[in-house]
Amino acid sequence: MGLLSRLGRTSRLLRIAIYGEPVLREKAKPISEVTDELRDLAERMITTMYENETRGIGLAAPQVGVSLRLVAIDTSSDGPPAPNASPGELLLEPRMPLILINPEITASSAETSVYNEGCLSIPEVSGDVVRPVAVRLKTRLLDGEAVDIECGGLLARCLQHETDHLDGIMFVDRMDEGDRAEIAEDLRVLERQAKRRAAKSRR
Ligand code: ZN
Repeated sequence: MGLLSRLGRTSRLLRIAIYGEPVLREKAKPISEVTDELRDLAERMITTMYENETRGIGLAAPQVGVSLRLVAIDTSSDGPPAPNASPGELLLEPRMPLILINPEITASSAETSVYNEGCLSIPEVSGDVVRPVAVRLKTRLLDGEAVDIECGGLLARCLQHETDHLDGIMFVDRMDEGDRAEIAEDLRVLERQAKRRAAKSRR
């Protein structure tokens, strides 16, 4: 498993890939088998998601430099579920943090909403993104359980953001042109930093 052995062994925390790093633009590979190594990666991704300064509600494996179709999510909140919670929120949120293996969005609602998104891989940048309000999620959980369920709320939003990462798409790609122009310079700065880091590590 060359993809996984590249990860550092010293820290439980994983380094987050930042905008401009090529791994974030790759199409991630499907997972054929859940190995102990993969379970370890999953555990470390959850730790990394929580430990981050701006606590994430989702983290996709490409964001820690591993181009595999695996996602960590935790959109749970304290307190009882909302009265209009979707079947997916009711089923999955009490079990979070959750690891999704090969997650797929198989259907999306026609109804959309706007939400201000951020991303651990694009520090200090946020922007409004329009997405369907509900999606159908087909995935396996880490223990092999198959899930095929309708999800709404913040869970639906998070699932779309994270599955996008598996296809090399980032939320800034989905912002409208005017908003994107406003953050273009921030993105260029991040890209230049990524190039400098890559050049340094080649030396
Ligand atoms: Zn993200």
